[in-house]
Formats: sequence, C-alpha cells, structure tokens
Amino acid sequence: MCILVLDKKEAVPIFYGKRAKEEEIETIMVETEIFSCMDTACIGWMRKDFVTDDLLCPMCGNEMAVEIRELPKI
Ligand SMILES: [Zn+2]
Repeated sequence: MCILVLDKKEAVPIFYGKRAKEEEIETIMVETEIFSCMDTACIGWMRKDFVTDDLLCPMCGNEMAVEIRELPKI
C-alpha cells in the first residue's frame, strides 16, 4: 500500500510590528564636535574627546579637520 505524504502547509507565525515600545532604546542625538579625515577617500574620524595628540587620522595618518556631526549621546 502506498502512503502519500502530503506537504502540510503549516502557518508560520509572523512576528512583525509587534515589538513593544519599551524595548526601543531611545537614542539622544547631540551635535558633537569631531575631527574627520581631510582625505575624501578616507572615512576616518574621531570624537573630539578621543582624538590623538597629533590630531592625525587613525586610519590613514592624514590631517583631520573639525566638523560638527549629530551623534548618539555618550
Ligand atoms: Zn584618514
């Protein structure tokens, strides 16, 4: 005797748009002075509070310029 196994199309629970608001961590953005690399091909930048003494890009060693950027508060 042949037993046919049929694919059971079970409903897959979909979880979306149900995330509780409390789970969302509120990020406060503040205008922060940063130093960004003057090399346009480089994405290196640092917060002013964490720059190295020589003010050089941590990624390519180029000079960096002051810039204001909106960053999450720390
Ligand atoms: Zn750089």
